[in-house]
Amino acid sequence: MWCGRTSWPRDLTVEHLLPKTRGGRGIPENLAVACRRCNRRRGAKPVVAYVRERIDAGEKPDIALLRTSLERLSASTSRPHADYGARQLALLARVGESGSAEHGRFAGQPFGLELG
Ligand SMILES: [Zn+2]
Repeated sequence: MWCGRTSWPRDLTVEHLLPKTRGGRGIPENLAVACRRCNRRRGAKPVVAYVRERIDAGEKPDIALLRTSLERLSASTSRPHADYGARQLALLARVGESGSAEHGRFAGQPFGLELG
């Protein structure tokens, strides 16, 4: 999702949009698929801060997928998660459509469900 690379299914991880260290929980709307490398590199950075970092590095985050994920999060019944999703969604709108959707879907499920 972050770097636009195609990963082997075993290198895909599930990570938290609202990081665990910021109170994020393992509820479905807070989870997203990320490659192992991005999961590790992102750490607890905010979603859009990490998106900008990847774009600056010449990579192509899947903006459409990110937007869908954040829209889902902003509809969470958990207030902290919904607020975080809405805020990141607003910030993402300013990043624009520079991302690529060419690897928009990970067809190779099931992926390794390593939580990060
Ligand atoms: Zn990645």
